[in-house]
Amino acid sequence: MTTRRDFLRTSTAAAAVLAGSPALLLRSRADADIIVRNGTVFDGLGGAGKELDVVITGGRITSVGPRATLRGMVEIDARGLAVSPGFIDIHSHGDGTLWEDPRAESLVRQGITTIVAGQDGSSRAPRGNADSNADELRGQFTRFTDLWASIDRLQPAVNVASMIGLGTVRDVVIGGKDRPATPEELARMVEMVRLAIADGACGASSGLEYTPGAFAPLGELIALCKPLASRRLPYATHMRNEDDRLIEAIDESIAVARGAGCPLQISHLKTQGPRNWPKLDVAFARIAAARAAGCDAAFDRYPYIAYQTGLSNLFPVWSRDDSTGAFLARLTDASTADRIRKETLAKVELIGGWNNVMLSNVSSPSDRAAEGARLGEYAAKQSADAYDTAIGLLQRNRGNVGMVGFAMSEDNLDRILAHPQGMVCSDGGSYAVDGPSHRGHPHPRGLGTFPRILARYVRERKALTLEQAIHKMTAFPASRIHLADRGRIAPNMAADVVIFDPAKVQDTATYDNPFQYPVGINAVIVNGAVALRDGQRSDKKPGRALKAQS
Ligand SMILES: [Zn+2]
Repeated sequence: MTTRRDFLRTSTAAAAVLAGSPALLLRSRADADIIVRNGTVFDGLGGAGKELDVVITGGRITSVGPRATLRGMVEIDARGLAVSPGFIDIHSHGDGTLWEDPRAESLVRQGITTIVAGQDGSSRAPRGNADSNADELRGQFTRFTDLWASIDRLQPAVNVASMIGLGTVRDVVIGGKDRPATPEELARMVEMVRLAIADGACGASSGLEYTPGAFAPLGELIALCKPLASRRLPYATHMRNEDDRLIEAIDESIAVARGAGCPLQISHLKTQGPRNWPKLDVAFARIAAARAAGCDAAFDRYPYIAYQTGLSNLFPVWSRDDSTGAFLARLTDASTADRIRKETLAKVELIGGWNNVMLSNVSSPSDRAAEGARLGEYAAKQSADAYDTAIGLLQRNRGNVGMVGFAMSEDNLDRILAHPQGMVCSDGGSYAVDGPSHRGHPHPRGLGTFPRILARYVRERKALTLEQAIHKMTAFPASRIHLADRGRIAPNMAADVVIFDPAKVQDTATYDNPFQYPVGINAVIVNGAVALRDGQRSDKKPGRALKAQS
């Protein structure tokens, strides 16, 4: 009889000897594709970790139990490590660079195995209006079925699900103008949402601080969300306001979900600007009341106290009506310039001044020095007025200026993450330290979110337990968007797995130096293929499009 210790020694030795050999050699003696041994396995449902072995074959988890006697073509010793379902990013902009760089380095290296794209009212299907320029049409698809096919051909490193963006729908049917939809236009828009949901979109998103999504009144949003109701898919909203009118915006979001009869997902819930920090109790009370009245309301948030957006979003929505060209003209038009300046300065004061605005990316090479600078300091260095500097940047870059705004409360962030209805999102893009997605000066959340939850909010601040954090990053979001076979470590589930060291996992990307990968993520398995092991990426391309299931 071989003892367990002997068995482990021989199997480890066999795996080591054969590590460089053709897989076929191993195939003859292996009973499974991958066995993850001796790790502390978290089921994703919030249960405490248990020391179990996870057996994976054919892209699925085939068994989870103590001391698997099978042999794996790949054996991973996870002693002392956490074995978790792969992380699901419920609000991601990672699709932005995916077609240029399907390696999705910054996602895989965080342990993310699925991103949910199509956020903030903007999705890659249906296709934009006929007079959009070619650049805007690049990466835009007629139907969601075309988007899924493109993702499956692309074979990115992670899985991709998508919502349908209600701003995109409005843009396709109405264009950029601030006017209500005609009954005929509304019917066309509703039909687009219905078709997207039938094609597998996992919800509908709005971006009510962005144009043209902001021009949608309550009634339009309710009508567009009705196709979600029978499938219980969520209306995800970047709300109309996240600072002085936060509570009114939450009320509107609840009214949309209740009017349509669908679940509500408040995107990146925050209380922006110090004077609004005390509103969190009221915000939570509104959500609790909605739930008590039968509205399935939840929310997500990234683990940072700074947000990222376009610099133009500091400017009032009315000034951005119609087009970028019209917006830029209004900035200097004598009939509008003063009012825009006054309203914008009020917004900047709310977040604590121009030095709380960090410039993250520009499109004009001549402004490259601005990337990473605080706008107040950048203007002072040139002995220029900060507002004039801002509009100069917008003009030279045709509105294409990104910013990071430092405006949120650390204590509120703890409470938002710890709330039973709170999930984790990155709201970030996909980047790499090399290649085509090394670009600009992004918010560090695109490279650090999930490790940061485990390091800062679980290990250091103890805002939530490890099993709670894992639940908020796996089974909770999976159930929200009906990814029925994802987000759990259990037999028959898709084999999306992350193995990490709870004592060492750490984000390293910072606001000053964002292009740094996290540490302490030992291995990542996507659809049963090892995408990352011991810091090394494989050349496997395991990701695929994920449709919402019924
Ligand atoms: Zn957003």
